[in-house]
Amino acid sequence: MTEHAVVIAGGGPTGLMLAGELALAGVDAAIVERRPSQDLPGSRAGGLHSRTIEVLDQRGIADRFLLEGQVAQVAGFAFNRLDISDFPTRHNYGLGLWQKHIERILAGWVDELAVTIYRARDVTGLAQDDDGVDVHLSDGESMRAAYLVGCDGGRSVVRKAAGIDFPGWDPTTSALLAEVEVAEEPELGIRQDELGTHSFGRTEYEIRDGEVVFADEGPVGVMVTERQPAPSSEPTLRDLSEALVIVHGTDYGAHSPTYITRFTDMTRQAASYRDGRVLLAGDAAHVHSPAGGQGLNTGVQDAVNLGWKLAQVVKEVSPPSLLDSYHGERHPVAARVLRNTMAQVALMRPADARLEALRETVAGLLSMDEPRKRFAGMMSGLDIHYDLGDGHPLLGRRMPDLDLVTAKGPLRVFTLLHEARPVLLNLGEPGDFDITPWADRVQTVDARYDGPWELPVLGAVTAPTAVLIRPDGYVAWVGDHAQQGLTDALSAWFGRRSPGG
Ligand SMILES: Cc1cc2nc3c(=O)[nH]c(=O)nc-3n(C[C@H](O)[C@H](O)[C@H](O)COP(=O)(O)OP(=O)(O)OC[C@H]3O[C@@H](n4cnc5c(N)ncnc54)[C@H](O)[C@@H]3O)c2cc1C
Repeated sequence: MTEHAVVIAGGGPTGLMLAGELALAGVDAAIVERRPSQDLPGSRAGGLHSRTIEVLDQRGIADRFLLEGQVAQVAGFAFNRLDISDFPTRHNYGLGLWQKHIERILAGWVDELAVTIYRARDVTGLAQDDDGVDVHLSDGESMRAAYLVGCDGGRSVVRKAAGIDFPGWDPTTSALLAEVEVAEEPELGIRQDELGTHSFGRTEYEIRDGEVVFADEGPVGVMVTERQPAPSSEPTLRDLSEALVIVHGTDYGAHSPTYITRFTDMTRQAASYRDGRVLLAGDAAHVHSPAGGQGLNTGVQDAVNLGWKLAQVVKEVSPPSLLDSYHGERHPVAARVLRNTMAQVALMRPADARLEALRETVAGLLSMDEPRKRFAGMMSGLDIHYDLGDGHPLLGRRMPDLDLVTAKGPLRVFTLLHEARPVLLNLGEPGDFDITPWADRVQTVDARYDGPWELPVLGAVTAPTAVLIRPDGYVAWVGDHAQQGLTDALSAWFGRRSPGG
């Protein structure tokens, strides 16, 4: 039977990112993917938020995405644009880039890291025991893995086979999304009416002065809200035509679809992200309305939280209980995404006078600086805070990408994370720290930083004298002229001291 340390079901954005993280950590991970190639019909996610760009920057690959996309202020809440250009991050913007390009670029990176991808076959079931998981495939074969991660999307077979509950809320609205040729050119842009929001656009576009300017030619992208929320079965050209006629009085002679799909505001989250040797990430763990464009971003960041932890467990550096912190940290993040998308869907419903009044109230609030910062921090992912206990505000928050000065010259913090290895950053007297028992796992870097310490939403914080940074870029320990708690933090996150250390 083919064996891998980790089998990842699904090579969408989440599965690809996880495979890359595991490969960087030297773990034998393989992806099983239903699609015969990485090609993705349809547009789906339209881009990346600031924190996801940072996470990719931590691995040295952000430029690959930035070069192909459109930098813009993309964060928003319901109808309100949230500008983050004053946020203290190198990437104080989002990126317009279709999911098919995001997946292609991620797949290129994973390919460089020599991850095996078994294409054109499905994971159909699993059986786990104390030592591993048998992963059953649609070609009749099975694979053996120490761990199986379901990154197989909202209808996850892995989640169902593991018997993990997926509680939540049924859809209240649905919309058709398509790319078609038209006989008669529709007016491009967004339109609201008593059914909801509808739009026409083109896949190719530019952002000029903050406004989307569509290409003059090419197939037309359609989004049309349906009269009744429909089940998520495969829609037809006829369904699209009928929905267009209801809203616009014509179907514009729509024909030759590249794809037609339906999305809803179904809102559900896996009750547990782990069952023994089976884990869930991305849409397999959470589904919600696309409002605010958070799904792909949340999945990619799930992968970055899980990757290094799973690698350490597979390598027996850490006990399997470290994996519980994956659920502990990421479940609340997606739960908040579920809540904020439900709130946005409610605000974007066809308006009566009272809902109009509520929208005006929310718009008024979000035009004030403090609420704008809070919501922008949430929607961009820059405010994510894992509960690692009380202490310095940096604890459990993202480490800023500071410009450091070292004996070898200038250095960015994110450059230190390219290999996905933890870092003890000593900003005090050089040589202050001796962490020899962890030296095979944790890099120690002596550096100087004289600039301001500022966090998104929170503002200025006291300068620490040292920080312990996890491979995912979150701060696990903060030093203040003393080493108190450092040994405990090193043991908790990066395993016990090496024998003889
Ligand atoms: C209309 C729309 C707009 C969206 N807009 C945004 C946005 O602007 N921003 C954003 O962040 N997100 C957005 N999303 C959400 C985003 O598309 C998803 O959250 C994202 O694709 C999730 O990635 P994933 O890898 O977890 O799952 P998926 O992308 O669903 O990938 C799952 C992969 O697993 C494969 N697979 C499935 N079952 C099996 C199996 N049994 N065996 C093997 N392989 C299998 C599939 O072929 C697929 O490649 C949008 C979604 C929609 C529908």
